[in-house]
Amino acid sequence: MFNTLSDRITGSFKSLRSKGRLSASDVEETISQIRRALLDADVALPVVRSFTAAVREKATGAVASKALNPGQQVVKIVNDELVEILGGETRELDLSRRPAVIMLAGLQGAGKTTLAGKLGRWLRTERNRKVLLVASDLQRPNAVNQLQVVGGQAGVDVWAPEPGNGVGDPVAVARSGLARAEEYGYDVVVVDTAGRLGIDEEMMRQAIDIRAAVNPNEVLFVIDAMIGQDAVATANAFQDGVGFTGVVVSKLDGDTRGGAALSVRGVTGVPIMFASTGEKLTDFEQFHADRMASRILD
Ligand code: GDP
Repeated sequence: MFNTLSDRITGSFKSLRSKGRLSASDVEETISQIRRALLDADVALPVVRSFTAAVREKATGAVASKALNPGQQVVKIVNDELVEILGGETRELDLSRRPAVIMLAGLQGAGKTTLAGKLGRWLRTERNRKVLLVASDLQRPNAVNQLQVVGGQAGVDVWAPEPGNGVGDPVAVARSGLARAEEYGYDVVVVDTAGRLGIDEEMMRQAIDIRAAVNPNEVLFVIDAMIGQDAVATANAFQDGVGFTGVVVSKLDGDTRGGAALSVRGVTGVPIMFASTGEKLTDFEQFHADRMASRILD
């Protein structure tokens, strides 16, 4: 998905690297090429602005100091700033309580239920945790069944509403799931919640109520990279509503410009923690800003 962005930035670096000396206008030319490439990739304007301002300041310094290989230095400055806007160091999930609670939030179709399975599998195999998935998405008719299926594939247990444990009430299901996890010694509870096609007051109210009921260690906001420009507005609405502590970008395998989803860290200040790159449970990885920057720049 980053081929075009990557080609364009690499193109502008090529002429830079070959120069023995750089002038201020060489730097400006490079910055303006990168700026256009980022905007064309849907990176949010405020993020592009702060990125180019930081690169301009540091690159101007590098040129003025008459350093050796100024072109190489500018390339490094661009790389470092890109890592910075993508989130710097990877933050680990907070699993400090037992059971630790991870709540998922996001629009319908963002990939929450799929993520619950991916996260369940990852926590079980990579972090050696006993995991309970909790089906608090009672909005989408098939969501409970879908969670049971992915839970089975992931090799983790699923708590779903049955008569007597809160049919129709997602908050009650979340609460009873947590009680179950406490009773049976689970290490981590992952609470799947309902989304809607767009920002919706009732959806947000429900997410806020679930958050209050289970007091999660982490609220992970799941954003579909394919929704393009809407990513930033959606992220802001969720941050103002339920609030979140980490971001998961899904569908990064799609053939689209993912710049908007990658802007979420720059706009909200909340780090991207995981990337989903396909429909299979193994299409999932911790998000590393430095690796993503190299994918974009190499
Ligand atoms: P939810 O409504 O947020 O629970 O979303 P789902 O988990 O049901 O996902 C919606 C659709 O997107 C499903 O068809 C998933 O298989 C698909 N999906 C989820 N994550 C990814 C991903 O990373 N890549 C691709 N290509 N598809 C995904």
